[in-house]
Amino acid sequence: MIDYFAKVLRAAWNTCKGLGLTLKYLFKPAITVHYPDEKLVPYERFRGALLFDAVTCISCNLCVKACPSTCIDLENATIPDPKNPQARKKVARVEWYSIDFGKCNFCRLCEESCPTKPKSVWHSLDYELVFFSRDEMVRCWKAGMSWVGQYWDRRAKQFKDPPGQVRIMEVDARR
Ligand code: SF4
Ligand code: SF4
Repeated sequence: MIDYFAKVLRAAWNTCKGLGLTLKYLFKPAITVHYPDEKLVPYERFRGALLFDAVTCISCNLCVKACPSTCIDLENATIPDPKNPQARKKVARVEWYSIDFGKCNFCRLCEESCPTKPKSVWHSLDYELVFFSRDEMVRCWKAGMSWVGQYWDRRAKQFKDPPGQVRIMEVDARR
């Protein structure tokens, strides 16, 4: 009989201990977030999806040479100097630029080798880069396209915006 009541008391004590622990954390601020409605922004050095700016790129090929995965391609072009369009002098720009994310190892060597200020190719904080087909892995940029770029849809024979691209840089920082 004594043994029975001891067991009941021990069970009640353990239940109270568990409830006490629950109460202790009930009124503390939550450390989890309601993903995907709420998103954590990684630290500045995080290597997310690569972005590219066709306006500042001087088509120097340094990123192509630095890339160990040979996933960058570009075609050179020359345009009238945007600072002095009347002059005969032309400046180097890219006709098109592409990165194959299927081969990229996110090493940041392209960004480090880029001589422009600000960088023309750089890692964003976007960790939600998703692809639904092989075509979407090859991101292309031309003058006039956004930094996120587009992909060439071989079936439709046209450039398309990458679906599911989350602009994590537009989400408020919560560190
Ligand atoms: S992050 Fe590395 S692998 Fe990816 S494109 Fe840049 S240099 Fe190439
Ligand atoms: S992205 Fe930078 S390193 Fe690559 S070609 Fe353009 S300016 Fe040169």
